[in-house]
Amino acid sequence: MQRVTVIGAGIAGSEAAWQLAERGIAVRLIEMRPLRQTPVHDSDRFAELVCSNSLKSIDTKTAAGALKRELARLGSVVLHAALAARVPAGSALAVDRGIFSRAITAQLSSHTNIEVVRGEVESLDGIIESKELCILATGPLTSASLAESIQGVLGKENLAFFDAAAPIISAEPLDRDRLFAQSRYSSDEKDYLNAAMDRETYEDFITQLIVAQRIVLKDFESHDLFQACQPLEEIARKGRDALRFGALKPVGLIDPRTDRRPWAAVQLRAENTDRTAYNLVGFQTNLTFAAQQQVFRMIPGLERAEFLRYGVMHRNTFINSPQLLDSSLSLSRIGLPTIRFAGQITGTEGYVEAIGSGLMAALGTYAQIKGLPEPVLPQQTLLGSLLRYATDPNTLDYQPMHVNYGIMMPLEQPIRSKQQRYLAYSQRARQALDDFIDDRPDLRFLPPYSLPLIQD
Ligand SMILES: Cc1cc2nc3c(=O)[nH]c(=O)nc-3n(C[C@H](O)[C@H](O)[C@H](O)COP(=O)(O)OP(=O)(O)OC[C@H]3O[C@@H](n4cnc5c(N)ncnc54)[C@H](O)[C@@H]3O)c2cc1C
Repeated sequence: MQRVTVIGAGIAGSEAAWQLAERGIAVRLIEMRPLRQTPVHDSDRFAELVCSNSLKSIDTKTAAGALKRELARLGSVVLHAALAARVPAGSALAVDRGIFSRAITAQLSSHTNIEVVRGEVESLDGIIESKELCILATGPLTSASLAESIQGVLGKENLAFFDAAAPIISAEPLDRDRLFAQSRYSSDEKDYLNAAMDRETYEDFITQLIVAQRIVLKDFESHDLFQACQPLEEIARKGRDALRFGALKPVGLIDPRTDRRPWAAVQLRAENTDRTAYNLVGFQTNLTFAAQQQVFRMIPGLERAEFLRYGVMHRNTFINSPQLLDSSLSLSRIGLPTIRFAGQITGTEGYVEAIGSGLMAALGTYAQIKGLPEPVLPQQTLLGSLLRYATDPNTLDYQPMHVNYGIMMPLEQPIRSKQQRYLAYSQRARQALDDFIDDRPDLRFLPPYSLPLIQD
């Protein structure tokens, strides 16, 4: 019987270990805490929630809620523990973090197929040499020595230590009449959407940007971020024209409505192949989410912008998944098919997303052991579309992403109303997952259970 090593008993690693163990696979689960702590964990428990105790919405019309429905259907143990530890929080699934992580620790530690080892894995060399199956789920604060080893294997350019993510907005509510498609220096290429600003609009924008409310970084984050790159609002503070010579430079652009170069221009770059989402080029920011809505909706054409993810800048270790991982989250593309990644280190962001990638990394490993076809979730599902985004080589300038409807395969019939559109995505996702589960009994899915979901 082949044994699987899971490194990191956080949210993703705990789910992965359980899924394998329940399918009769021997698992060695290695966790460095309490021997070595991260700057944010403070216990020796598995699946410790490091910040908020909310796992977000249980309304299945939202992407977060529909993802939970998928994970309950797939028999996730971590989500089940969250349900048992639930505290009242309206339409959110919030948990008593102590009850939650104690329950998962006890459940995994007493499983006959799981051997828990406490200690830091400092290098991947032994695992690569032995060719043993491994799921690496060491999270956003992977220890320094292991991170160095990962860099050695994947290349320095393929492991980042911080997010410097610009906001991503939905294509749907953009006012196309106020935007023009053009690449810089070329009127033939139309890779970018551009929002032209005249002098007055630019000045108003800068005035609001420099006074807008910012997020206060934690001490351990400030140093790395300072070295990484400067947020948009910091650059604006250096001089009112600084952004006109930086992210908002109009050079090489001609607005077809005036036949002139605009005073300043914001560029939007497609975020996915389907062009359902765009990012604001160069808009790395530390503004609060409310301030981002207020200030960035001042940009012409973005008045009704719908934020699929807000800009963030914080400490985060993640690999360049689209260029490295195959659709079952393994490093097969670079000749290491026995090593998989799961959780935040893949660039999928958020607690529930970590559960999802942990679960799918386990299914991929199980299929590999049993010689089954690779399990690839349909793109119509929430989890399938997130993993597709994270492993699609066409995803450029990869920045962490949480689940959202903007990265999903477009509907066959476009729906204008946002509510109706989300409902359609959600219902399509449910059907697609049901079909997938029916088609793949060989994957031995764990029993589904119900969550107190607000159903569509
Ligand atoms: C400061 C901060 C705040 C956050 N707040 C939120 C939030 O409010 N909501 C949200 O959804 N997400 C939040 N996140 C993201 C959050 O970390 C992820 O959603 C989630 O914890 C990722 O799960 P994971 O399993 O990938 O990593 P983790 O849960 O962090 O698990 C990784 C595990 O690996 C262990 N480990 C690390 N290195 C080694 C090693 N070398 N050897 C052995 N074990 C190792 C760690 O001790 C840890 O137990 C936050 C992240 C940070 C850094």
